[in-house]
Amino acid sequence: MIQGGQLIGNKTSQHGEDTFVAYAPREERDLPERFHEASGKDVDQALQLAHQAAPTLRQTSLEERAHLLELIADNLESSLPIIEERCALETGYPDTRVAMEGRRMVHLWRLFAEEVRGGAWLEARIDTGEPDRFPLPKPDLRSMRMAIGPVVIFGASNFPLALSVAGSDPISALGAGCPVVVKGHPSHPGTSEWLGRAILDGIQAAGFPEGTFSMLQGKGHDVGTALVTHPNTRAVGFTGSLRGGRALMDLAAGRLDPIPVYAEMGSVNPQFVYPDILANDAEGLAERLFASVTMGNGQFCTCPSIVFLPRSKDADRFLDTYHERVIETPAAPLLNTCIAIAYRQGLDRWETIPGLTVRHRGPTEEAAFGVLDAHHFLDQREVLLEEVFGPASLFVLCEDQDEFPTLAEAFPGQLGASIHGTDKDLQEVSALLNELHRFAGRIVINGFPTGIETCHAMHHGGPYPATSDPLHTSLGLAALARWARPVSFQNTPTTLLPEALQDENPLGIPRLLNGRHSASTAP
Ligand code: NAP
Repeated sequence: MIQGGQLIGNKTSQHGEDTFVAYAPREERDLPERFHEASGKDVDQALQLAHQAAPTLRQTSLEERAHLLELIADNLESSLPIIEERCALETGYPDTRVAMEGRRMVHLWRLFAEEVRGGAWLEARIDTGEPDRFPLPKPDLRSMRMAIGPVVIFGASNFPLALSVAGSDPISALGAGCPVVVKGHPSHPGTSEWLGRAILDGIQAAGFPEGTFSMLQGKGHDVGTALVTHPNTRAVGFTGSLRGGRALMDLAAGRLDPIPVYAEMGSVNPQFVYPDILANDAEGLAERLFASVTMGNGQFCTCPSIVFLPRSKDADRFLDTYHERVIETPAAPLLNTCIAIAYRQGLDRWETIPGLTVRHRGPTEEAAFGVLDAHHFLDQREVLLEEVFGPASLFVLCEDQDEFPTLAEAFPGQLGASIHGTDKDLQEVSALLNELHRFAGRIVINGFPTGIETCHAMHHGGPYPATSDPLHTSLGLAALARWARPVSFQNTPTTLLPEALQDENPLGIPRLLNGRHSASTAP
């Protein structure tokens, strides 16, 4: 049974008097269970417990943390039927999509467990001292990443499993040795409760201290504001809208002790289509683009929303095929009423833009698309670069592909950007590519940014406004680095060093030894 309270340490609390309900988008009805808004007391309790747990967690071994992640993966896996049932109800996503995300979530816990165990992410570095160096002795210096302390995490509505209570942010923070307090998204509170319970069971089974994990619910900004401004919070992980991420960044910067906010936000992910591929595969490319735009009904931060094409008969064929797909595809529900209203407002905004023709728009939440020329795009870029979250795409017709590098200059930070071209086309992309190096977190050749592999080389980030910090990623194994800061130890006796930095390398982890990569022991 869903209890509708907060999961604070090992207990369920229902202090908050205000309650809210979840909404079932497919059935267009409110669900019966009431969820309590976390109170100020709940926020304080969760962060006091997290603060108390932090020193113990920092000292846990890599093996203990990896084991914890694996236990939680097992718990989540065995609870998948109930989690997925609730998730489908609260999101309106098709069962296949929910099942795929559920498997991905469980896989992420196991993948991060392996990464934590491997220890490379600690970035252990040893520069051995030279006491006799002339004219000054060189100190012995050793550094590694160490857990920063309690982390507050906000998940987005559109990935209720893989980017929420049990998603990449909490996994990486726990793996790095940080206690976690999650704010559940009000769009899927029942799903959040099931996920939170599975995580807590794993924490108790692994013998980790109370306060290692808490989950608070809330609809409205009060709970989030209290979490970000609480003195015990050491960092924030956020996945969601630019508006929400920016508000939390400003709150964190306004603290007496500003803390980092790793916000992963929205993006329009430009696509540049070259003429030879258009001539050879206009219809196929249009089909693939449509499949990418409508994946998750357009509710992906990596949705390829702006497409640049050289004006030609081939471009017309491309647009005709796209149009056919749009017309024949029925509307699917958007995640919640706020997103649905924002989608319609975004399309209304497009209708007022000079030079922009909205070629197709349905009465409700159907896919939509607009067309304009490059000149109008540049004139109106500030409005056009605002994400319209949903299955909407904008096609910009250029005189020829030589305009692409100049058009690309219009873009601030983006999560992804793609170039589509044949081998012949790809011979002339270097100026455009150089511009993408400036603003894109991930550059895709002949593919779309939707679909994110979790691996070492994945960077799901980019300069502001794609994220708050271009140096870090929220997805991919490098996500661990956000929650562990580098600490140097100077002339420190072995007995006082963490195992990762001891001469014998007892953990057997890869290290940088006097500038060379090594898994061996120090001299
Ligand atoms: P959202 O409205 O920003 O909500 C995300 C979370 O932040 C919610 O828990 C929300 O809680 C909280 N929040 C938002 N504004 C706040 C504020 N001013 N103060 C305190 N808390 C605040 O985002 P969403 O609608 O769930 O997700 C859609 C957006 O996420 C899209 O823009 C999409 O592109 C982006 N997204 C990005 C990524 C990525 O990896 N970059 C991935 C998925 C989605 P309350 O509503 O209770 O305040």
